[in-house]
Amino acid sequence: MSHIDVLSVTKLSPLLEPQIRAVFNLHDRLHETDPAAFAKIAPQIRAIAASGESKVPAALIEQLPALEIISVFGVGYDGVDVAAAKARGVMVTHTPNVLNDDVADLAMGLMLAAARQLPAADRYVKDGKWPTGPMPLARKVSGARMGIVGIGRIGQAIAQRALAFNMSVAYTARSAKADLPFKYVATPEALAAESDYLVVITPGGAATRKLINADVLKALGTKGILVNVARGSVVDETALIEALQNGVIGGAGLDVFENEPNVPEALRALPHVVLAPHIGSGTTQTRQAMADLAFNNLNSYFENKTVHTPVPECAAKG
Ligand code: NAP
Repeated sequence: MSHIDVLSVTKLSPLLEPQIRAVFNLHDRLHETDPAAFAKIAPQIRAIAASGESKVPAALIEQLPALEIISVFGVGYDGVDVAAAKARGVMVTHTPNVLNDDVADLAMGLMLAAARQLPAADRYVKDGKWPTGPMPLARKVSGARMGIVGIGRIGQAIAQRALAFNMSVAYTARSAKADLPFKYVATPEALAAESDYLVVITPGGAATRKLINADVLKALGTKGILVNVARGSVVDETALIEALQNGVIGGAGLDVFENEPNVPEALRALPHVVLAPHIGSGTTQTRQAMADLAFNNLNSYFENKTVHTPVPECAAKG
């Protein structure tokens, strides 16, 4: 299929790029690096390879009259204008499920790190402060109340882990799930009011923008800890910084930020915050599984017009 032209709109994972290059004719971010060459090749581009953080706006889709499929390396696809793709009959695929364990593990890790102050403890020993006296006491995780905002594939994997810590689990989502044995709470604010740890794991995009606002943080309370492994856009970052600075909440563990990879200095300066550079799915095993799935979606589409994991909008009939 080396005659099939694929445009990548991001620096592809080294686990994915060679797979695509071996089979397709890959144009690596040509629209950004060489617009004149891109203009010549654009009518032939039949696929886009993107990541979960990529932007694939309607304007780009419009420039590609032969486009048939957008394969996203990631489960979140909030940067892709799916409505514009669908209107043109362009398939969009993503990589759900293979990353559930890793993202859930990281959510637990951030919660434990923020509650037990693990980065500060590490520095305390390494800086030779231990002989001067003990560290201040931290907060208990086991047996506490976890509230999960978004109880989909990853949210449920987080809930499973919370149960192993003897935590109670409640959740909010767009609708209650009759098949789940957890308490449904209608709004993030009401959920925060009855949670010690509030874990955010919804999709990004317009519908969840600033879902976690100043009111939700106030409801979480002075001892509450926020964990965000969803998207930076889901949390009002300005409100979060204010809440942390003023002791409105007790702490936070964050993997995602509004303007990645730039993290506000005010957030980086806070002692009771644990930060990670968007590494939710960042293990070799999981990134390999994601790369294989993203490649297989492309490959099987061009082999027999089937895909393994379409986004829900493209899986729906009609
Ligand atoms: P999923 O199975 O589609 O679950 C999404 C959940 O969010 C569902 O329970 C859904 O509720 C809920 N939700 C959607 N819109 C909402 C809204 N407006 N208000 C409240 N709840 C809402 O997705 P997933 O596979 O678990 O992945 C979730 C997200 O995690 C991804 O979209 C991505 O942004 C993020 N993620 C981050 C990393 C990382 O590296 N940190 C890695 C992977 C994924 P309903 O069922 O009621 O619609």
